[in-house]
Amino acid sequence: MTEPQIPLFRVSMPPRGELMPRLEQVLYSGMVGEGEEVRKFEQRFGDWLGGRPVLSFSSGTAALHTALMMTGVGPGDQVISTAMTAEPSNMAIRHCGAEIVWADVDPMTGNLDPTSVAAAISARTKAILVVHYGGHPADLDGLRRVAADAGVMLIEDAAHALGARWRGLPIGGSGAITMFSFQAIKHMTTIDGGMLAIDDPERLPEGRRLRWFGIDRQQDRLSVEVSEVGYKYHMNNVTAAIGLAQMDHIDGVIARHTDNGRWFDRALAQIPGLVPSPHPPHAEPSYWFYTVLAERSADLQRALAEAGIASSKIHRRNDLHPVFASSKRPLPGLDRFWERALHIPCGWWVDDAARERIVAAIRRGW
Ligand SMILES: *Cc1c(COP(=O)(O)O)cnc(C)c1O
Repeated sequence: MTEPQIPLFRVSMPPRGELMPRLEQVLYSGMVGEGEEVRKFEQRFGDWLGGRPVLSFSSGTAALHTALMMTGVGPGDQVISTAMTAEPSNMAIRHCGAEIVWADVDPMTGNLDPTSVAAAISARTKAILVVHYGGHPADLDGLRRVAADAGVMLIEDAAHALGARWRGLPIGGSGAITMFSFQAIKHMTTIDGGMLAIDDPERLPEGRRLRWFGIDRQQDRLSVEVSEVGYKYHMNNVTAAIGLAQMDHIDGVIARHTDNGRWFDRALAQIPGLVPSPHPPHAEPSYWFYTVLAERSADLQRALAEAGIASSKIHRRNDLHPVFASSKRPLPGLDRFWERALHIPCGWWVDDAARERIVAAIRRGW
């Protein structure tokens, strides 16, 4: 009997019997655009983060673009960012017409190194964009200090990090502005969608205008005056209904990612040629995937594939893309991380037998 494949990602959906009646109700309610379901989903998600003001969006990228616009990022400005991420993190900076300045990453975690960020600050720096890579919180103490010293905004891309914690608080539960993505394969999906958690509730009206053509929807549509360029970035009732159904299950999903991650932290600790990606004691990752640093990582990837286990580097380091060529600079920490990093399955679909199988396959060597 051949063993089943263990994928690196799976789409998590609430049970059919729970989701379909709610979805059907919204679909035939006559109100599929932005309305009551969106409002309820925002309320529920904000409460889940510990009572945070939030704004929903049609995608994480839309949310991030809006976060940058709310920070005032525009042409001529610089945003310090990481190349070790998915392309949307950095595309959003370019959507604003701003320049990307790469800072280097910790070679063990792939997360931005605050010392390198501090060295990249200039008079033109408007913001720092940090990604909690793979669900591992970056050094928020260090990065917040650098941002405060420079007087620039720290924007968090938590697309990988739903449910992760820093010093006991959920990522997005503190900090100025944090983006979440509900794209298909994230911890939680609404098919597509995104959210911003914002510390200052007075900034919500601006975010609401930017996500809807610059229009203040509280005002009468015929007398409202539009004085800024806005976008069509809002969430709709259909995807919000999916989000509401997902919220009934998200704690269990995250708990299984986290349980697997902690189990791998122990089970993979003593294997020659490989170390688990470490995390500081006050960081509690939510392990979107699990990262190992391996000698000859391509050989390990092949050996795992032969055992029916998917693994990958997942994201091409963004500084290799021609579209970002003008930001090119030496990044020795990233070179080291990129050479050795391999991501293995860690999510809710990895049961006890599957994780034993993954560790056994790694132990056999590569
Ligand atoms: C998924 C992702 C995004 C973008 O989210 P979308 O919802 O797909 O627009 C941004 N940053 C990172 C790191 C991501 O993985």
